[in-house]
Amino acid sequence: MQNFPGVGVSPGRVIGTVRQMPKPISEPPAGEQLAPGNTAEEATAALKAASQAVHDELKARAAHATGDGKAVLEATALMAKDTMLIKGAAKLVARGTSAERAIWESGSSVSEMLHNLGGYMAERATDVLDVRARIVAELRGVPAPGIPASTTPFVLVAEDLAPADTATLDPNKVLALVTSGGGPQSHTAIIARSLGLPAVVAAVGVDELPDGTEVYLDGAAGAVTSEPDESLRAAAEAWAATASLLAEFSGTGATADGHLVPLLANVGGGKDAEAAAQLGAQGVGLFRTEFCFLERDTEPSVEEQAVAYKKVFDAFPSKKVVLRTLDAGADKPLPFLTDSTEPNPALGVRGYRTDFTTPGVLDRQLEAIALAEKDSEADVWVMAPMISTAEEAARFASMCSDAGIKTPGVMVEVPSAALTAEAILREVGFASLGTNDLTQYAMAADRQLGPLANLNTPWQPAVLRLVGLTVEGSRAEGNNKPVGVCGEAAADPALAVVLTGLGVSTLSMTARSLAAVAAVLKTVTLDEAQQLAKLALSAPSATEARAWVREKLPVLEELGL
Ligand code: PEP
Ligand code: MG
Repeated sequence: MQNFPGVGVSPGRVIGTVRQMPKPISEPPAGEQLAPGNTAEEATAALKAASQAVHDELKARAAHATGDGKAVLEATALMAKDTMLIKGAAKLVARGTSAERAIWESGSSVSEMLHNLGGYMAERATDVLDVRARIVAELRGVPAPGIPASTTPFVLVAEDLAPADTATLDPNKVLALVTSGGGPQSHTAIIARSLGLPAVVAAVGVDELPDGTEVYLDGAAGAVTSEPDESLRAAAEAWAATASLLAEFSGTGATADGHLVPLLANVGGGKDAEAAAQLGAQGVGLFRTEFCFLERDTEPSVEEQAVAYKKVFDAFPSKKVVLRTLDAGADKPLPFLTDSTEPNPALGVRGYRTDFTTPGVLDRQLEAIALAEKDSEADVWVMAPMISTAEEAARFASMCSDAGIKTPGVMVEVPSAALTAEAILREVGFASLGTNDLTQYAMAADRQLGPLANLNTPWQPAVLRLVGLTVEGSRAEGNNKPVGVCGEAAADPALAVVLTGLGVSTLSMTARSLAAVAAVLKTVTLDEAQQLAKLALSAPSATEARAWVREKLPVLEELGL
């Protein structure tokens, strides 16, 4: 047995065999020529065979996929045999360029051309780049990039995952996720929780594990162990039995003494919202609207946006739906809003700030939201991400009012917003704490970096203090505005108790975590939650804050959380 300690980000104890996510394909050197003895005819034949093989493989995967994943795979399969792509490469080969370099260059030209065409065509530009990498991998005889295909379930090991990987991640095949990089607020963590997959991030050394190695993983404890013994097998079996108990949420979040804490869902679009409604979510606490348009090169029209937003509203008639305006930038770039050359994107023009450089997009989004709300029954609240000052909050509130939006709010993700919450909340109707970014900015630690995972946890007493300050500001005389939490912290059942004790009014999380959070919350009274919040605030470190609180919540161990 060998241990690979990491940071647990999504609970569950499972055993499975490792499949490594292949490394990205490196660019063949510029000017690379045909190898001596390799004729242009042979190289062209190899190229065509590789393109056919890539097409066939993607087509076969599409046959077993469903929904978005199927559509992505089918579109990519077609692109693998695209005449312009293959003819362009064959021409270069005829002039002596190596097959790998030729397909690389041809891929660049086709992608650029599609990009310049704009609209639907521009969205295919990234498919071409994916296909060219797959053809190069085939020519080199190395595994294709992306999530590996497999007929049997496996534990996916990667450096980190991107939001776009979700489309091809089949939760029926992937038992659990382990990454060597990434932090607790990274996209791997968010993806794992939304799919209900156990996950450990920042587990140094896991990339060395050969495919097929058997591992045990505990997504609450943050442990990965290769070649597990009998006791770990028993732990995985016991989890399988408890997991079913955590699948059901009654639909009302409350402490043992009946203090209500509505448990809401974080969603990225209509499908998520429908699934969240099925799982009993009491509303939506965060609709990440940028997730509807991640692949878009151009701004979606007002009508198109309204259709996407209405799908979410319709999943929650007469319930609260908190929609966040586009949070483009940093880890979620949107080509029509973000400048990819910024030297420090996390501190750059992201979220609400894109209105400084691309005015009009936010106004049109607010128009689309108002349009979608008009014939929907949801109680729609709208908040801006990355608000830093009371002036910005006031301006956003006035933009909302101009658009006819009744309940404007802000996300508190920048420490300055937490520190000036009282003034900010005089301008808007509510705040929602985005603890993922609040942690990254309070600790000056990029949320995507594995080596900073221990800094990058919302258990940091500094972060908890910022949460406390925000609540205090919201309760200042004459203010009395609700403050929720919609960062990943809300999905950690022990932290959910602490946040309740700190005074937040709602908790919003991936719908899969609702049952676990509700099960733990109902074991404490509000007074006990307040005591646990004090305990966490008094801890000298994040590790101790977490350990001290967990020790007082034996239900966590009972439920394997
Ligand atoms: C957050 O920062 O906590 C948040 C909810 O927003 P996102 O994770 O989308 O940046
Ligand atoms: Mg954020």
